[in-house]
Amino acid sequence: MDASELLRRADVAMYAAKTAGKNRYMRFQPEMMKALVDRNDLEAGLRLAVDSGQIAVHYQPIVCAGSGTVTKVEALARWIRDGALVPPSQFIPAAERSGLIVEIGTEVLLRGCTELKPWLEEDSSRSLAVNVSGVQLQHGDFAELVLAVTESCGVDPRQLVLEVTESVFFEDDCHIIQQLMSLRTAGVRVALDDFGTGFSSLGRLQDLPVDTLKIDRSFVSMINTGTEQLPILNAMIGMAHGLGLTVTAEGVETAAQADYLMNLDCDSLQGFLFSNPQPEAALQPALDRAARAIAALRGDRVPGNL
Ligand code: C2E
Ligand code: MG
Ligand code: MG
Repeated sequence: MDASELLRRADVAMYAAKTAGKNRYMRFQPEMMKALVDRNDLEAGLRLAVDSGQIAVHYQPIVCAGSGTVTKVEALARWIRDGALVPPSQFIPAAERSGLIVEIGTEVLLRGCTELKPWLEEDSSRSLAVNVSGVQLQHGDFAELVLAVTESCGVDPRQLVLEVTESVFFEDDCHIIQQLMSLRTAGVRVALDDFGTGFSSLGRLQDLPVDTLKIDRSFVSMINTGTEQLPILNAMIGMAHGLGLTVTAEGVETAAQADYLMNLDCDSLQGFLFSNPQPEAALQPALDRAARAIAALRGDRVPGNL
């Protein structure tokens, strides 16, 4: 091959080494070229989707075990490409690599506030949760942007929850912590998403500007029959409460899991047992379904549904 092809292949191998976690060497393999083409194709498609407003938002109810009502809704970005849904696990990392997550994140927040405003207005204890990537928090004007969006939509910042993962605190970047602190001063709450999957130091947890822990669904899926002993769940919930945090369990799919978590005093539950994420047009039936499911678990009498 000629020199330029050699350099090109070396470059492709370097990309693969970086993607595989850096600090390593890799030999060029023809499949790497395909992976790079696919990646570029995904990023180009995503740019087009963002520019043409093809990013949609679906909403998933979160139920409160204590009151037996839906008190929160999580907004989740959706990309429908040529009629098929691209999973967020594929396009969110691509959006983070390309920086497009900033536009997507703002769009999800704006749409969420606009579409959920009537629901939020009915009851001040309700809130909207939006996922935030570390890339967004690295922008110095993130806090201002969030507050400008809530203000322009007429949504009370106290009805907004920002979900971040433990990894945003890895860098020990006091700038990120400051942004979250100033948002909390304005009333916005912060939830630590996918808790238990990262490597956070428990010692730091008490210093982080966080209000809620969301227990990752890998822990919830350990509950099978509901008769097992799972001290890890008990400890996580106890620790969170000890630190003054509320706890939401993610990925609750069965009544046995919900019962188990409610017996451990878990504050809120989210998962397919209550409702899948739904577009705004189908939100009301999803909210009703979720409310009926939590009422049934609590043994509440539901008018019209006896
Ligand atoms: P997440 O924030 O932890 O969201 C919960 C995920 O679990 C969602 O996946 C939801 O559809 C799924 N889920 C909910 N209940 C159940 C259940 O009972 N069983 C199972 N197996 N799954 C359940 P989704 O929508 O595919 O999103 C995946 C991840 O992508 C999210 O995880 C979040 O980290 C990220 N993401 C989604 N939308 C956005 C966004 O607008 N911005 C950012 N930065 N990240 C987003
Ligand atoms: Mg989330
Ligand atoms: Mg999660």
